[in-house]
Amino acid sequence: MADEEKKAKEDRKIGHRERWWQPVALPGIRRLQFFSDLSDRPWTKNLNRAAMFGIATAFLIDFFKPITRDNPQTIYCYECRACYATQDRCPAAITFQAELTVASRVSDYERFIKNGGLACVRCGNCVSFCVVNLNLPMIYGRMQELTIKSMEDGKIPRRVLSWAYENGRINRLWIDKVARYLGKK
Ligand code: SF4
Ligand code: SF4
Repeated sequence: MADEEKKAKEDRKIGHRERWWQPVALPGIRRLQFFSDLSDRPWTKNLNRAAMFGIATAFLIDFFKPITRDNPQTIYCYECRACYATQDRCPAAITFQAELTVASRVSDYERFIKNGGLACVRCGNCVSFCVVNLNLPMIYGRMQELTIKSMEDGKIPRRVLSWAYENGRINRLWIDKVARYLGKK
């Protein structure tokens, strides 16, 4: 046993562990650690920490933004795309409702506008296709308000607004404000 311990010490010193030195997971079963088979592994540890930090930050942003922007239902969107089945039942000819929901979750105004978000008339026809029954008209309505505010703060490129204006992708509720912002009236 003394020899084994001495050998184990030597193994650890050079960063290598034999099978018998792997940690015991269950009686008679050792847990092989393929990537952490070095006694001194600062890089592996720090990479793990960096990865965990990145994942935690992404999760926090996913929750933080919708809650602070008063659009918390968007957190529950599965991104399953079942709402695409709305098709010609959408009076605003919006084909990618999920894009609007995800854009609302992450406050991506450009993506929202390009997918016709400002054209949505909040009729609710898409709601019955949503697998989690999200209140989509409310979500899109709130995002429209945020988009217009962002426009007034000068945070949305004019080319995106001009494209939406010229292609009829803005509904009656917002058209005057956008036209004024673009200097069209
Ligand atoms: S609520 Fe908006 S996206 Fe949904 S069907 Fe009506 S107009 Fe289209
Ligand atoms: S059906 Fe509902 S949950 Fe699925 S992508 Fe559309 S909005 Fe999200």
